[in-house]
Amino acid sequence: MAVTPKDLPYAHDALAPHISRETLEYHHGKHYTGYVTKLNDAIKGSDLDQKDLVTLVREGEGKPYFNNAAQAWNHEFYFDALADNGGAKPAGDLGKAIDDKFGSFDKFVEQFSGQAATLFGSGWTWLVLDPKSGLEIVNTANAATPLTTAAAPLLTCDVWEHAYYIDYRNLRPKYLEAYMKLVNWDVVGDRYGAAKG
Ligand code: MN
Repeated sequence: MAVTPKDLPYAHDALAPHISRETLEYHHGKHYTGYVTKLNDAIKGSDLDQKDLVTLVREGEGKPYFNNAAQAWNHEFYFDALADNGGAKPAGDLGKAIDDKFGSFDKFVEQFSGQAATLFGSGWTWLVLDPKSGLEIVNTANAATPLTTAAAPLLTCDVWEHAYYIDYRNLRPKYLEAYMKLVNWDVVGDRYGAAKG
């Protein structure tokens, strides 16, 4: 069966100038599809080949294929929640939950960007829904993902250098400013609704 790479849900130039066509061609076309290819090579001919990506990640911690599976899933989750949406903000239940937890949307942005800016090395910054404490901002290192925890991932920002080096060189904060203009809050709101049940 193997894991099939997902297309971007928009054109490669849809996020420019904040994230360029060249970045997406490399990030989606080379890095993301590279993780999927390496995952498929690792599971080929085994019964893992019959499992979907989410199951592979959830059951794969510590296994040789885990990093490629988690990176494949993390990237799909990242790309799926970006859009050229003119800097929209979260609305509805999610907008209210963010205001309640962080004080305001601006304060959420400040905290999320601050955590992403100070993540050392390569990793991901997430908004998750924790079953006990509600909305939380968490960092994970390298390929690690909240998908293997009790918390439901809602939004992620890729802070591996390959996500921004073409457009912003070493200036991660500039990339984070751009990223925040591109979040597709409709997608994140749907994820929140599904996670709340
Ligand atoms: Mn990446």
